[in-house]
Amino acid sequence: MKNTAVKLKQTTCPYCGVGCGIDVNMDSMTLTQVNGSSEHPANFGRLCVKGSSVLETNDVSGRLLQPMIGDSAASWDEAISHVASGFKQVIDEHGPQAVAFYVSGQLLTEDYYVANKLMKGYIGAANIDTNSRLCMSSAVAGYKRAFGSDTVPCNYEDLEDTDLLVLVGSNAAWTHPVLFQRMERAKKLNPNLQVVVVDPRKSATTELADIHLAIKPGTDVALFNGLLHYIANNQALDTDYISQFTEGFDACLASVEQASLEQTAAICDVDVDDLARYFALFVNSPSAITFYCMGVNQSSQGTDKCNAIINCHLATGKIGKVGSGPFSITGQPNAMGGREVGGLANMLAAHMDIQNPQHTDLVQRFWQSPTISTEMGAKAVDMFEKIQNGDIKAVWIMATNPAVSLPNGNSVADALKNCPLVVVSDCNENTDTSAWADVRLPATGWSEKNGTVTNSERRISRQRGLLPPSGQAKHDWQIICEVAKAMGFEQGFDYQHPYQIFDEHARLSAFENNGTRDFDISGLVGLSEAEYDKFRPIQWPVNAAYPQGRARMFDDGKFFTPSGKAQFISVTAQAPKQLTSAEYPLVCNSGRIRDQWHTMTRTGKAAKLTAHISEPFVAMHPDDANLYQLQENQIAKISSAFGDTLLKVKIDSGQRKGELFAPMHWTKQFASRSNINVLYAPAVDPISGQPELKHAAVKIEAY
Ligand code: SF4
Repeated sequence: MKNTAVKLKQTTCPYCGVGCGIDVNMDSMTLTQVNGSSEHPANFGRLCVKGSSVLETNDVSGRLLQPMIGDSAASWDEAISHVASGFKQVIDEHGPQAVAFYVSGQLLTEDYYVANKLMKGYIGAANIDTNSRLCMSSAVAGYKRAFGSDTVPCNYEDLEDTDLLVLVGSNAAWTHPVLFQRMERAKKLNPNLQVVVVDPRKSATTELADIHLAIKPGTDVALFNGLLHYIANNQALDTDYISQFTEGFDACLASVEQASLEQTAAICDVDVDDLARYFALFVNSPSAITFYCMGVNQSSQGTDKCNAIINCHLATGKIGKVGSGPFSITGQPNAMGGREVGGLANMLAAHMDIQNPQHTDLVQRFWQSPTISTEMGAKAVDMFEKIQNGDIKAVWIMATNPAVSLPNGNSVADALKNCPLVVVSDCNENTDTSAWADVRLPATGWSEKNGTVTNSERRISRQRGLLPPSGQAKHDWQIICEVAKAMGFEQGFDYQHPYQIFDEHARLSAFENNGTRDFDISGLVGLSEAEYDKFRPIQWPVNAAYPQGRARMFDDGKFFTPSGKAQFISVTAQAPKQLTSAEYPLVCNSGRIRDQWHTMTRTGKAAKLTAHISEPFVAMHPDDANLYQLQENQIAKISSAFGDTLLKVKIDSGQRKGELFAPMHWTKQFASRSNINVLYAPAVDPISGQPELKHAAVKIEAY
């Protein structure tokens, strides 16, 4: 007999940037089962093991259930008043630049929107940055330099409808599993689809590759400059496209004059025949996608790497067409939504620029705010350095764990220890970061939060509140608005429901836009609460021209630069910042494993997920193990100039010699000495500010 008590609710997975839809069965107030939503265009019913285990991580154990001031429970009124007066006092004494918000790709768009509005339009500084800085800020900067806007051109169907799929710096099989399943299926259905994987190490993803280019870490710019040289020297330029839709080609071509096939193979340390096969495939394939991720972005030259990729697509006209384009993939579920509302220290809301006076004027008029920041704020690494040196004296950290996720983790923890006011809002009671908090504010978690997220293909979906808040937890947007009001900003934060914030966000995207800005969701203005609740996933822009959303950008050859043309950017290969030496002879790379998420605050709770790989490890080539006299499973100490960590040795012939790999998930909370971010220098890309989390110079020894 049918169980009439079971209700079906649709929401979105809280983990990676694929943004899969999830159908949840509810029996009264209990979530009983999850399945991939067959209607959601990101996953069509699929889920990976993380998504399908989400209920195992969703209990109240480990949740922060009431506000805390120091070690004492407090009422919400006391906690809000304490935070507001603390921030006000710092601002009164030291100015608005002395306070900061460090936010997260785990926040929903509505949370992000009000946090950004409070900091930039009311406090009057731009010291709001996000952990997405660690994930995709180089991709943003690369797009903006080339297209004049932070616009992802492609969509997931392009991955299936292409002749050539090039994955660069991505272990998608583990990090974006549902997209990888779509790639596997596409290759099965179309054996002519060629797959090239560019990654220093063998991984689950390289098993799909027709060609695996295990390049020397950090040589991506040389690789793609070599490809551009090859394109030009093999009569493969799309000269019509270049002359009609782009600028800067001649200078760019001149800059790669020396990048012969042989020289490129030598710099990248790959077989010249394999390289020639890849280059020939790119030139001869009618369509090609270059799919890139953290291996490209997390670099002191990440922005240049992105532009080197984009240059090759512009030179061959492989953009704005089915199955073609440079396609950056985000790590987090709402890194894109955060970009859209300007939750980065160098952006304004609705993809506007903080250093553009017309944009700051427009946003201030729209918000009717008392002020507007006209200068960039401190980006993530810079922000914690400013906390360390005392320039920033109050920080509010929302839904993220920077004490262990930022590079040079030891100094981040020191910075928080010495900061006069640290506020942490989080759904978890104890994190490595909350250990340093003066005030802890309980935030709602997945299954309670209600709002929107945007995935890697620009698709906005609803994350629906299925359960009431646990304990005294409140939604992030509510907490931010209450603090804003307590700081005296009554006007501007009087929302009763997230649909009102979304509506304001949509209206701002349309405000004096006239087609000059890429982010335009004017077609979503005026949704009622009921319409917002029923909202179906849709790809922005959503406007009069594209009322059902737009799957592919730049198919009309129009870009958002002042001239309307895409820009070639000349880039020159540079070495990573942390170079090997006699003392530190090895390179240490980092990444995700299949079943864990970030610093494990949620996935660490699920037995099913910890069963896959239960301990932190360092992978090394057998010859290196011999050289350093290390055995499988032996504990080794890995040290850099910035710190050291202890990891179990895993001998792996898929590693390049002289290079190590370690997962980034384990923190002091889960394994007291096994956090690897202590090894990384605080070196960042000079344009994007993204830290170089793939290249530490280290030594290894038996412990
Ligand atoms: Fe969630 Fe990503 Fe897995 Fe989809 S692929 S279920 S979004 S973790």
